[in-house]
Amino acid sequence: MTQHGFHAGQSRARRASDDADVIVVGAGPGGSSAAYHLARAGLDVLLLEKSTFPREKVCGDGLTPRAVKQLVGMGITLEPADGWFPNKGIRIIGGGVRIELDWPELSSYPGFGLVRTRRGFDEIVARAAQGAGARLAEGVTVTGPVLDEETGRITGVIVRDTGDGAAGGERAYRARLVVAADGNSSRLSLAMGLRKRDDRPLGVAIRTYYTSPRHDDDYLETWLELRDGNALLPGYGWIFGIGDGTSNVGLGLLNTSASFAHTDYRAMLRSWLATMPAEWGFTEETRIAPVRGAALPMGFNRTPHYTRGLLLVGDAGGMVNPFNGEGISTAMESGEIAAQVIVQALARPDQSSTELALQGYPQALKDAYGGYYTLGRKFVGAIGHPWFMQFATRHGLPRPTLMRFTMKLLANLTEPRGGDAADRVINALSKITPAA
Ligand SMILES: Cc1cc2nc3c(=O)[nH]c(=O)nc-3n(C[C@H](O)[C@H](O)[C@H](O)COP(=O)(O)OP(=O)(O)OC[C@H]3O[C@@H](n4cnc5c(N)ncnc54)[C@H](O)[C@@H]3O)c2cc1C
Repeated sequence: MTQHGFHAGQSRARRASDDADVIVVGAGPGGSSAAYHLARAGLDVLLLEKSTFPREKVCGDGLTPRAVKQLVGMGITLEPADGWFPNKGIRIIGGGVRIELDWPELSSYPGFGLVRTRRGFDEIVARAAQGAGARLAEGVTVTGPVLDEETGRITGVIVRDTGDGAAGGERAYRARLVVAADGNSSRLSLAMGLRKRDDRPLGVAIRTYYTSPRHDDDYLETWLELRDGNALLPGYGWIFGIGDGTSNVGLGLLNTSASFAHTDYRAMLRSWLATMPAEWGFTEETRIAPVRGAALPMGFNRTPHYTRGLLLVGDAGGMVNPFNGEGISTAMESGEIAAQVIVQALARPDQSSTELALQGYPQALKDAYGGYYTLGRKFVGAIGHPWFMQFATRHGLPRPTLMRFTMKLLANLTEPRGGDAADRVINALSKITPAA
């Protein structure tokens, strides 16, 4: 026993009325990663998910080396025989140019990415959390917070069973801390008064699947320019082979674009695909899924990331990378960072020092992404102007050194220490740019 009356390395004795040490709302990649790391540290975690696995999520299904690193860190094996389709890098198309850039070889990140549909992916990550000891409850929808009347602090959540055959009655679960990992709309954050910031970028994207001979493409193909004949369409597009006979094809637009509010995304997809060679097979006959859309909340578009017992992880905290629309790795990384902060906070002997530790979470996120995301917001401000994209695709793409630099910048893949000239320039820029 320590002088504070509890064993070192253990959380403080749980309040008698609590159902867990920590409740995590949402078992997407962010929530499952948080739950995994909390459970590994010995905390009792309740992971609540409104749907039942396997379930779909509208996504491009592309995993960069940052996401691969997170999966490896959770002990998930990534064998192609188990449905993981590896890729070597990205192919960028625009300005009449087509360039393939391999993922950089770094000591900090693996040199390969993956594609896997979210139908399988999210369940694998959730089961890893369960395997580490988290208690996963599927078909359980969180309808609101339980609040301490005096302090306004969240002390638990109200839930309703929504799985097959559920009776539908409401009940409460209580814990000392709650993690909101409930995605872009994050009802729980809203109920705690945390709205989206309209001074931050937001993307909207749609995607669908086709059977295609291009299914085994081992580069993630990104189109910086979409055209309908000679006309330039707003937005960017992607074609990601899944390796199982199908490809994920989609396009997106940022709210910095003048066309954002009045775009018919499905018509734009049809126009863009009509310009492609027939043998690629992206036609109505080979489309095997509905065209679905969703939002990409970018560059910290919901803050603060900690308030009154609630920590925001992943899309709930607007953590999609504004440079490239990648949100899976940042959801998983923020889940791990949140878990590290919580483990330290709950081991503190009194409420005021617990609170002090929790205040470290927004700071840790700013340290990890703040300067880089500020740069990203300037970047999306610029790419919202068609002249910038035209200039960049015409003059930037043909220059391999510049494009390799751009690749490291867009995918946030640099060595934290040392590295080459590009690593040092990007790290220095991220450091000197304020994490507003
Ligand atoms: C069209 C499109 C393409 C994209 N392509 C890519 C890509 O190729 N690569 C990439 O890295 N990122 C991509 N993204 C971004 C990526 O999908 C998200 O950033 C990522 O899913 C965020 O993970 P998350 O765990 O924070 O949230 P989510 O994945 O949204 O998970 C939230 C979970 O919470 C659950 N939930 C919600 N409300 C409740 C509730 N009240 N009670 C209980 N559970 C609840 C949901 O069912 C869900 O399981 C794309 C996004 C879009 C829209």
